[in-house]
Amino acid sequence: VTFIDKMLPKCDPSDKEGSLKLLEDLINNAAGIQQQVLEEILNRNSNTEYLRGFLNGNTDKKMFKQKVPMVDYEDIKHYIEKIANGGASDIISAQPITELLTSSGTSGGQRKLMPTTAEELERIVFFNNLMATVINRYIDGLDKGKGMFLMFIKQEIITPSGLVARPAMTSYYKSSHFKKISSSYTSPYETIMCLDSKQSMYCQLLCGLIRRDEVVYIGTAFASVFLRAIKFLEEHWQEMCSNIRTGNVSDWITDKSCRSAVMNILRGPNSKLVNLIESLFHVKSWEGVIKKLWPGAKYVYVILTGSMAQYIPMVDFYCGGLPLVSAGYASSECYIGLNLNPLCQPYDVSYTLIPNMAYFEFIPVDKNGEAEGLVGEAIDLVDVKLEKHYELVVTTFTGLYRYRIGDILMVTGFYNNTPQFRFVHRRNVVLSIDAEKTNEEDLQNAITRARSIIEPLGCFLTDYTSFPDISSMPGHYVLYWELKTRGGEALPELRSTTLEQCCYRVEESLDYMYKKCRSEDKAIGPLEIRVVKYGAFDALMDLFISQGSSVSQYKTPRCIKSDEALQILNARMVASFFSQNTPTLEP
Ligand code: AMP
Repeated sequence: VTFIDKMLPKCDPSDKEGSLKLLEDLINNAAGIQQQVLEEILNRNSNTEYLRGFLNGNTDKKMFKQKVPMVDYEDIKHYIEKIANGGASDIISAQPITELLTSSGTSGGQRKLMPTTAEELERIVFFNNLMATVINRYIDGLDKGKGMFLMFIKQEIITPSGLVARPAMTSYYKSSHFKKISSSYTSPYETIMCLDSKQSMYCQLLCGLIRRDEVVYIGTAFASVFLRAIKFLEEHWQEMCSNIRTGNVSDWITDKSCRSAVMNILRGPNSKLVNLIESLFHVKSWEGVIKKLWPGAKYVYVILTGSMAQYIPMVDFYCGGLPLVSAGYASSECYIGLNLNPLCQPYDVSYTLIPNMAYFEFIPVDKNGEAEGLVGEAIDLVDVKLEKHYELVVTTFTGLYRYRIGDILMVTGFYNNTPQFRFVHRRNVVLSIDAEKTNEEDLQNAITRARSIIEPLGCFLTDYTSFPDISSMPGHYVLYWELKTRGGEALPELRSTTLEQCCYRVEESLDYMYKKCRSEDKAIGPLEIRVVKYGAFDALMDLFISQGSSVSQYKTPRCIKSDEALQILNARMVASFFSQNTPTLEP
């Protein structure tokens, strides 16, 4: 047992002082711990087929940096497929690979499979405990009630070798550790284990309403799931109220264990509760509805960084000023960072990388994610520079070596010499028609500016995506926008000039190269906004879920690549608008 492993059982959030000290120790010693992590990983795994091929059994750090290549999924896919198809897992990891995690990222249309080990669960539990420590530091009384946290699992696949393949969160929720702590949530364990996501959602929300007095915080993993839950509530609150009034769960809840778990909580008719909550639902506008429905909630746990940032205004609208906490940054490959200032504004969130989770390296990149030097030259955690962009590379305890997760981060500051990062965007999400490259963040910023034209008219942009349309010459950017009114009433007749202005505002906000290609070279045609029916992005999510995405880990793709997805959006289009001017080129 090494120093690194010994640390894992030590984080107990109920010991406030002890766990805070552990957190400080970790952060203050990040450089040393990172070196120990790498040593430990190499000592354990230098004789795996994969590492032997580069290091010949050596465990020297310098050699590791010189000889082991930075890889993408495509480079290591055949090792993982070998394991999935019956090969021994010691080709990449000395510790047995116990299951494969299906990540939300896709590679050439196929789901990525990430290796994991039994020990990794301890690391995840440690991370979660550390996260609870940070939140408890700022918010009192969270142990006095339950969290209404919506959690969903996905059907697992058994690979030919007999290994289970499933999303990371499904794996966590199905672990014996989670089962032990599941009573701290309002959702009965059986409702989380229900494979039908609609029944699961209904039952979890219903139980959250019945137990509203116990709720001390509310949450979902990502903001997109949170908004989906609200939409679900909009569609089902009358039915839920009627269930509470009669003391009976709707007939369509056919999952037996789910049904009996909910009936156990419902325990007969409760008209007093219905009378209270019905009036909160039955209002013109749902502004602040979350705070009113769950008055004891102290905060909302919901990731609003990266591509989720566009949901901030909507989530805030429904939550009525409750603190919105983006607490952690994690991936199927490994858990990564914590927000040490959880009560900060959602736009200001930075994550501090937790140094015993994996060995982290950083490829200096420009803001589009293009490597600035040689890709092989990645630097260590403590060597990154303020305000620079980096692509994150991880070497994990689970058999990934110098693996490029695909995330671009920017250094925003330091906490006791340990860098803190803003999640900027995913690599490779760029729209490009000609010489210009528009990344996810550029697009998001431009849309945020355009959105401010429709917001004063009482409209929300509930979701968006994009598509580079090159079917006609010159090609042009297409944005799909789903809109909704603040009060929930029908959309006002948006004058075409208003949306044309939005098109133009987006174009004006894009970078110099876009404007040059568009205005000077005429290599890009006028930008188009296609307004789609409310619910179109739910249909899009349903498509991706039918193809294997998990509800809990789903993120709306900001650029559409598949014909099927395009068809779903095009079939729901209500109107289309084009920019009427060409953007001006500043000298
Ligand atoms: P998955 O592989 O499905 O577990 O998704 C992991 C990916 O989700 C990460 O690589 C990020 O791109 C994204 N992600 C996870 N946590 C955050 C966060 N806090 N903020 C922004 N993006 C995140």
